[in-house]
Amino acid sequence: MALKLDISKAYNRVEWVCLDKIMEKLRFGVKWRGFIMQCVSTVTYSIKINGIPRGNIIPSTGVCQGDHLSPYLFLLCAEGLSLLIKSSVASGVLEGVVVCRNGPKLSQLFFAGNSLIFCKASLTKCDALQQALKVYEQASGQQLNRAKTSLFFSRNTPLEIQEEIKQRFGAQVIKQHEKYLGCDFVEASLGNNPSFSWRSIMSAQKLVRGGIRWRVGNGKDIHIWGDKWLPSLTTFRLASPRQFPHQDTRVSELIDHATTSCKFNILDALFLPHEAEMIKGIPISSRLPADKLIWVEASNGKFSVKSAYGLAMRLAAGADQSISSDRSQDQICDECRENDETTDHLLWSCPKAKEVWSFSKLAVSPSHARVNTFFDLLWGVTMKERGDEDVVAKLVCTAWAIWHNRNVTRHGGQQRNGNELIRWVA
Ligand SMILES: [Zn+2]
Repeated sequence: MALKLDISKAYNRVEWVCLDKIMEKLRFGVKWRGFIMQCVSTVTYSIKINGIPRGNIIPSTGVCQGDHLSPYLFLLCAEGLSLLIKSSVASGVLEGVVVCRNGPKLSQLFFAGNSLIFCKASLTKCDALQQALKVYEQASGQQLNRAKTSLFFSRNTPLEIQEEIKQRFGAQVIKQHEKYLGCDFVEASLGNNPSFSWRSIMSAQKLVRGGIRWRVGNGKDIHIWGDKWLPSLTTFRLASPRQFPHQDTRVSELIDHATTSCKFNILDALFLPHEAEMIKGIPISSRLPADKLIWVEASNGKFSVKSAYGLAMRLAAGADQSISSDRSQDQICDECRENDETTDHLLWSCPKAKEVWSFSKLAVSPSHARVNTFFDLLWGVTMKERGDEDVVAKLVCTAWAIWHNRNVTRHGGQQRNGNELIRWVA
């Protein structure tokens, strides 16, 4: 079984002793721990009453919310739970779940603010897990929100055991663990400032998108153009040109809901003959169930890590080939057509770049002995001019202008010569 924890992120309740002990266990130096504990414990708070700050409240627990250090200290605290579970597994009190035959046992996954704990679905193991959680709650000052904690059971767990465990945890049971691969994930975006964990998770999204297609139910969730829903073995997308006015038109428009069959005359009118025939062959259930995303890499339509790995390997091999075939054409410098277009070449050693720099009034010239690369130049100017903002700004703007000029030219625009470029930058 798996347990998805909902732990309150109560910064104000972090127990200082616990934090210090965890740092000690993680082998932080005594002096360092002293610094951190000083930062944490010398905080005072005032409260605004009618707009006037009052009081000098001295806390005895908690890390200051809004302080940039706090999230990291909070993570250290959460590490305590992870270590507690690890040691319970090591001593045999808890038992993880085997991922695949001969594979390692998995006991926990902590990512993006979610904590998943895996454990054998037996009453004794559950009591041991409860005990570990209780120790963590008492020591850290954090609290498990039992109402928001979810339990997942494998299909072979007897119902009475599921019920008993549910009672003991006071948690809800989620039956569809498939939900984790649902629409929400597939359509989620990376956001403006993604965490490392979220970026890692999202890097799997492309792979998942590549391996799924729609199975038509009532057609209401599927876009005719753009979505993958054809039972063809290549792209699963329509190649027929779009004739409907709206990009948003759904597959449900093609289904006669009264007779639960395809509208043959519309298909013939809209699509290329072979695609129309293919659509006519899609079985439509008379119950018109909801559309479903299926995993095309497995014959049963169910996602598995093994098949996803196979797909990832195939994509990687394909990507390698396309890069190597493009390389000869794509990587040569547009200006001199002689050298590979590296950052250094483009911004500094290319004859075109040298011309631009010679027009700039910066006290560095391409013949400058110590300047071999653009980064030497940047470093030299930053250090020599002691970070004179004007000079650094001019340098960076000139470099950007070279890059911009290259892009404009590449896309068919008017190229500026060195003199023009420098005047433009100024
Ligand atoms: Zn060049």
